[in-house]
Amino acid sequence: MSYRTHQCGEFSADAIGAEVIASGWTARKRDHGGLVFIDLRDRSGMVQLVIDPDVAPAALAVAQSARVESVLRAEGTVVARSPETVNPNMATGAVEIMVSALEELAPSDPLPFQLDDEGVDESLRIRHRALDLRRDELQRNLHVRFRVTQLIRRYLEERGFWELETPILTKSTPEGARDFVVPARLSPGAVYALPQSPQLFKQLYMMGGCERYYQIARCFRDEAQRADRQLEFTQLDVEMSFVERDDVLDLAEGLYCHLWREIAGVELPQPFPRLTHAEAMLRYGSDKPDLRYGLEISDVSDVVRGSEFAVFKGALEGGGCVRALACPGAASLSRKDLDELAEFAKEWGGKGLAYLLLDLGGEVRSPIAKFLSPDEIAAIVAATGAGEGDAVFLAADQVAIVQRVLGALRPHLAERFELADPDAWSFLYVVDFPLFGWDEDEGRWVAEHHMFTAPRREDEDRIESDPGSVLSEAYDLVINGSEIASGSIRINRPDLQERVFRTVGFSAEEAEERFGFLLRALRYGAPPHGGIAPGIDRTVMLLVGTDSIRDVIAFPKIAGGFDPLTDAPSPASPEQWRDLGLPVPPTPPPAERA
Ligand code: ASP
Repeated sequence: MSYRTHQCGEFSADAIGAEVIASGWTARKRDHGGLVFIDLRDRSGMVQLVIDPDVAPAALAVAQSARVESVLRAEGTVVARSPETVNPNMATGAVEIMVSALEELAPSDPLPFQLDDEGVDESLRIRHRALDLRRDELQRNLHVRFRVTQLIRRYLEERGFWELETPILTKSTPEGARDFVVPARLSPGAVYALPQSPQLFKQLYMMGGCERYYQIARCFRDEAQRADRQLEFTQLDVEMSFVERDDVLDLAEGLYCHLWREIAGVELPQPFPRLTHAEAMLRYGSDKPDLRYGLEISDVSDVVRGSEFAVFKGALEGGGCVRALACPGAASLSRKDLDELAEFAKEWGGKGLAYLLLDLGGEVRSPIAKFLSPDEIAAIVAATGAGEGDAVFLAADQVAIVQRVLGALRPHLAERFELADPDAWSFLYVVDFPLFGWDEDEGRWVAEHHMFTAPRREDEDRIESDPGSVLSEAYDLVINGSEIASGSIRINRPDLQERVFRTVGFSAEEAEERFGFLLRALRYGAPPHGGIAPGIDRTVMLLVGTDSIRDVIAFPKIAGGFDPLTDAPSPASPEQWRDLGLPVPPTPPPAERA
């Protein structure tokens, strides 16, 4: 039996008069007392079936009893719709199928929710994902996802990259998150770790002479689930030999221009701007600034150095700074709005938020105006570029706190005043990250990117003497204020790798125990190499315009790492625990499990 001569979305006036077969889901049904209309849907679209008992008496009962979402097979003739029933909103709206035979291939129970109902609880939708995936939006998102990986594969293969796999059961590949571990039944007491990324294996491929590798790789990070994170996510993992930083950045830039051209129809301006990490932090208070709007931060410490205002004075005397940004149109904010902004600043660790409101007509309103001379006010206004009708916001504190507060305030104000053009794209590279950061909690240096990232050559000799001043060969691709890819040029000599391990606090024995396999490989000639890893989920999110990563993953997990579809994670049986040589844990009451 043939199920289709056409897909549902393919019917057009060209097919009028043809005897056809179509199969699909019952998307909508209208029973006009004997004459039944069904919108039959498959992946390609929808077509209207007409079941007229005068034409096909046996089909009527099938049509009347079929529930929405049951699967039907229809035979019939394509006919033109009468002019008044042509549906211009439907691709196949000029025609319909006059049914001669109708069969229900599989029935549907009454639905747990209507597909087009926007208010359905997400975990209910995910629990019935096979049903939910039929929604137009998810179909579109999955298709974009497929197009992205298809375009990536072709782009990279044309440039000499090999798609190669890396192990899932492996040893820890640290990227700053917690590992998922899998107890090894055959080695009681030992575990495998799931990869946080294929980082070390892709480096080994380079040491193994493969030169250009990529993989659409699943990565696992056991972190508290935030809105834009999943415990497992997909990244495009890329590594290249005999390259410098700009070779990798050029490759990724070309690839992203290709994706945006092919999928969004957008020609991105090239080259992507490059900001050093220091500059990004100074001008935008963030290492992932959104440049679709201005709100640039200015350092006004020198301007207010003479001020008697205690907050400014205290910050400057304590080695901190005073920085400001001007927000267009914000002079009209109410007292309540301003209080809310001060609260917002406090949530980000600030003491509050000072402001100057530049009224139309040139008057400046501000609780701190009395502490500043007219010249100082004029200098602040000039430094921030504020004009009439704008507000200037000032933060005074330790540099890190000022950056954090103003860095958070920028997107907050941009959203409130709708400053980002929704059709604009901001692509940029942030480069020259510090190699190490000081971890207050652990009281030691940690790698800012990961431990395999190379220092800039000119900074290498300060690794031991002044680790905080060493800049690295790491880079990020930032799109509309989100970090979409990270990468770096890697260390390719064992002595340098050992120095970095020592600086982050590993003894020689520990380094050997955890990363002996890497050090061993580095000892036999590693080419200069580097790579990058863009997030596929996030890239698709940008292309389809959603804020939820769960809208671009077919089978996502929700908060707490829970999967409402399969109810994973689920308790292991006593036999499974025993097999692993582990004690059987007491079963918590069901309420605590989720
Ligand atoms: N492994 C890094 C990450 O997952 C990316 C890279 O350095 O290529 O962020």
